[in-house]
Amino acid sequence: MSETQKPQLDRFGVAAALQEIAQLMDLKGGKYRFKAKAYNAGARAIQAVADLDRLVREDTLTNLPRIGDALASQIKQLYLTGQSSVLNGLRQEFPKGVIELSSVPGLSVEKIKQLDEAGISSIAQLKAAAETGRLESLKGFGPKTAQRLLTQLATPIQKPKRRLHLHQAWNTADQVVEYLRVIDGVVDVSVAGSLRRWEETIGVIDVVVSAKDPAAVMEKFLEFQLILSSYIEDENTCVAQFADGAQVWLTVVPPKEFAITLFVKTGSQAHIEKVQKYAEKKRISFARLPKTETELYKRLGMVYIPPELREDQGEIEAALAKKLPEDLVTEADIKGVVHCHTTYSDGIHTLEAMVRGAEEMGMKYITITDHSPTAIYANGLKVDRLMRQWDEIDEVQEKVSIKILRGTESDIIASGELDYPDAVLEKFDVIVASIHARYKMDSAKMTQRITTAMRQPVFKIWGHGLGRLLQRRPPFECDVEHILDVIAESKAAIEVNGDPYRLDLEPRWLREARKRKIKFVVSTDAHSVKAMNNVKYGVAIARRGWVTRKEVLNTLNTTAFAKAVKPAQ
Ligand SMILES: [Zn+2]
Ligand SMILES: [Zn+2]
Repeated sequence: MSETQKPQLDRFGVAAALQEIAQLMDLKGGKYRFKAKAYNAGARAIQAVADLDRLVREDTLTNLPRIGDALASQIKQLYLTGQSSVLNGLRQEFPKGVIELSSVPGLSVEKIKQLDEAGISSIAQLKAAAETGRLESLKGFGPKTAQRLLTQLATPIQKPKRRLHLHQAWNTADQVVEYLRVIDGVVDVSVAGSLRRWEETIGVIDVVVSAKDPAAVMEKFLEFQLILSSYIEDENTCVAQFADGAQVWLTVVPPKEFAITLFVKTGSQAHIEKVQKYAEKKRISFARLPKTETELYKRLGMVYIPPELREDQGEIEAALAKKLPEDLVTEADIKGVVHCHTTYSDGIHTLEAMVRGAEEMGMKYITITDHSPTAIYANGLKVDRLMRQWDEIDEVQEKVSIKILRGTESDIIASGELDYPDAVLEKFDVIVASIHARYKMDSAKMTQRITTAMRQPVFKIWGHGLGRLLQRRPPFECDVEHILDVIAESKAAIEVNGDPYRLDLEPRWLREARKRKIKFVVSTDAHSVKAMNNVKYGVAIARRGWVTRKEVLNTLNTTAFAKAVKPAQ
């Protein structure tokens, strides 16, 4: 390949092809499902790289996480030639239109093959064939199937089958926003809906755009390469299904309607309804459109309500009384990365790599909190290895400008005790105390276990409190209010865990904790350098819980933080 060869695809084009490979492999099933996962991960990695050209020219694609030689070679081919031998092979195995048509429930690959032979290879063609009655004459279809398909196709894009985690939703949303921003005639672009409110999981991604010619922008948007199928709802709205499972609802309005549209599209439903009712009662009209959301709230006699608070949880009353917390914690306030794992336990990066990652983020300190002995599955540290880690911390500390705090994520064992001897616990700089096993206790026992842990004489941070895994495992059964009462009078703080699969404690409990004047840390629970970015999800959840800067311990500078979390105090 010549070094000056002109690339045939950009990073989105390459990612789209990788996603197509993944989908076709998924349809093949069996062992190919695993390969599909690898191609999907590759697609996400490529979408996010800033300089694909350099990586290809210098043959350094394999430096990216989860990109091996085989994947790198496909990416290079795609970038330089627009073709992929793997994709070409797969396409020959499947009928035309298989990806689009396989999104219709009940259409097997076999049926899609029959459709292809009859010249039907898109949802639009399928719909037309069903409407004209041609479909029922095809082998294997018949009037019943045709009727069922017609009903299904009347709602052309199915609601997403699964909700996205925050990092997944933002990954797609950021790309969409970036793509929209540079379209001719676009004035403003913003994410709206539950994603703008940072709900823990996201059904559809709402995006609002303003432009003088909405139709032209919509048309251009639908050309975005990562879109699999789309549907135009009306002259201002369209829905696009992305190959990675994300569904984007785009609303395009003239510039003067941007602020009010953004407000309405952001929700929540309960917030909007209450605001509307209040406006009616006070006879406040928006016939003259507000230019910004701040102006909108001002006309209602309210201070600006940040999107994370728009849940009708008292924020409207507080905004009227000018009692909304003004210093909600922000990402910029966070001075230290709390709760990090390394290769000593189940992290994927070394101690030094994690520390340097935190340093690069501009943090002033990092707490290394690997797992404790009970967490055998996570290679928890017995005392001898812990001592070795402390030696290594001393060595790395010599080379870096940020402070490394010696910590642990100590298991809360079934009795409520922590699993290092007190003499060891007292020597740590910081302790995160978490439950990792024996989840299924009855509520009274679990409450007892956690309150016993919180009453231990050392200061500790209650890690991922209720043990939930979003969409996989519900929170523990326990008396949370009683636990919070105990924490309020113990040497303890609460973690707001930023791992997008956890986000624990949830906002309503954070609000309850605030009432008891409990302090928080916003943590990352990072098992890799990249996951230290989890801090932004933690901050968002803290804001949804109305948590202010002063209530978050890791907004303190190094000395004050170290003092605040010192176990032996
Ligand atoms: Zn944990
Ligand atoms: Zn952890």
